[in-house]
Amino acid sequence: MENALDAGATRVDVELQAGGTQMIRVTDNGVGIPAAELPLALARHATSKIASLDELERVASFGFRGEALASIAAVARVTIVSRTQDGVGARVEADSGAITDVAPAAAKPGTQITVSALFHNTPARRKFLKTDATESAHALEAVRRLALVHPAVAFSVVHNGRASISLAQQGPAQRVGAVLSDDWLGHAVPVDSEIQTETGAMRLTGWVIRPAYASAARDEQYLYVNNRYVRDRIVAHAIKDALRDVLHHDKSISYVLFLSVPASQIDVNVHPAKSEVRFRQSQAVHQFVRHSVSKALASSATEAGAVNAGEKVLPQFSSPSYPAYTASLPLQIAEPRQPYGSPSRTYQPPPLDFANVMQVFARPDAASANPMGAVANTPLGYALAQLHGIYILAQNAQGLVLIDMHAAHERITYEKLKTQMLGDTRGVSAQHLLVPAVFRAEAVELATAGEHAATLHAFGLDVSALSEGELVVRSVPALLAHADAAMLARDVLRDLQRVGTSEALAAKQEELLSTMACHAAVRANRALTIPEMNALLREMEATERANQCNHGRPTWYQLSLADLDKLFQRGR
Ligand code: ADP
Ligand code: MG
Repeated sequence: MENALDAGATRVDVELQAGGTQMIRVTDNGVGIPAAELPLALARHATSKIASLDELERVASFGFRGEALASIAAVARVTIVSRTQDGVGARVEADSGAITDVAPAAAKPGTQITVSALFHNTPARRKFLKTDATESAHALEAVRRLALVHPAVAFSVVHNGRASISLAQQGPAQRVGAVLSDDWLGHAVPVDSEIQTETGAMRLTGWVIRPAYASAARDEQYLYVNNRYVRDRIVAHAIKDALRDVLHHDKSISYVLFLSVPASQIDVNVHPAKSEVRFRQSQAVHQFVRHSVSKALASSATEAGAVNAGEKVLPQFSSPSYPAYTASLPLQIAEPRQPYGSPSRTYQPPPLDFANVMQVFARPDAASANPMGAVANTPLGYALAQLHGIYILAQNAQGLVLIDMHAAHERITYEKLKTQMLGDTRGVSAQHLLVPAVFRAEAVELATAGEHAATLHAFGLDVSALSEGELVVRSVPALLAHADAAMLARDVLRDLQRVGTSEALAAKQEELLSTMACHAAVRANRALTIPEMNALLREMEATERANQCNHGRPTWYQLSLADLDKLFQRGR
């Protein structure tokens, strides 16, 4: 397929049999191969793609090693039928490395390459093929990766006679919608930034899903550097950094991003399949990507209340607009945990236990709050009622405020833990458990607890081995005194496992704190009194970034009187 694109094709059709294990055929309408050069295409180290050394640096094409076809021909039967625009059709076949003579063949302009009998001469390798379903999934993913970055090329895949991908020539946004879904595109924010460097321009374009729509299940991350799909730790990390604090680490952010950098700034041949690159100035790339992504997310958040879940239901309403909150909006998101393990873990909320909530809510000034008095700087207003044990309704000068109790409480706890962690060299303040919590642990959990004992301590956790298969928790962060200690410890251990070395840990602090904060949150269906609700509102106002919970969801939503009037079509 890469050869087809290099050949300027505007249409690439793929046919697979049995997931590609029996046959893969790629047909393109590109420039074709002159009959005389057909055997060369199959010869090792033969390439038509570098005319001069100078071109080596620019690497516009997908490859220049002249190895792909030769390598495939060594382990399979390869048939090439090709015709240039004004040449005649010809055909050549190679089997286990032996090339037949070129023969005339009927053909449309372009090239058709058929690979069959894969590994027939190397049965040991055949065993490494996965099931047809897995192999076809890989093949389809390969097509999707190319399709995203070549919207102007039509692609189709037919598997076992049935059409499974069919993409017309289209624009970049439409192509993203067609490949990832229009729904995905609708929930994504566009990114488009450019800066000048000494060696030329660096540009980042594409889309990032809004944190509120990130999910654990959909883990689609497409990064292209100079139009080539790559996996790159620098860029991935920069994106995570941009999302620190508002994205729950159980979720990973999905994106389609195209980074272009001056060709002299990258080395594309560090990986045999060219799926990795090396940046000469990785620091600059990191900074640029992080900045571009946070800028895109922040502007979408302030412009349209984009991170606001309310927009789904009430698209015509404005987003929260208190200066105090919008000023701190630039989304700070906890690191998604993508590189560290399977994304399939789902968070199990701890059993309902609200005693800990009272620590937050029972502030002396809470009960004495004076509803709507001209007192005070209370942008979130005063509580009127609680809705279904989930939302608080409050009245402020503008109108109605809706607050998600759980999200707000989690945010507050997270910020408090963070303050303790950063502000106190002894770390998070711990509380001794009267009754230590014992739980069955796997070997890896035991090992992690031993290895990271000091770190756990700094996080307010005392976790140690009790027996060969058991761990015991003796203290937990005071703020989480009433959380389920065993579950808390388990979750933190799991995070630590993924972090690996303790050097990497510094960067993961916030992720761990966010894991812990989950365990403190007020769960739904807890009845709060009005003073408790007001106390929560005041805590929110005092907490930095209280308008985002660390899962990236909004914590509150403003409906102004004007919004309400509009809703009831009431002219004023
Ligand atoms: P490389 O792409 O690195 O040059 P390949 O083994 O993939 O090496 O291909 C060898 C040569 O065969 C290419 O350089 C090109 O000249 C020719 N070729 C292969 N596929 C096509 C195609 N679909 N259309 C036109 N030319 C092709
Ligand atoms: Mg090639």
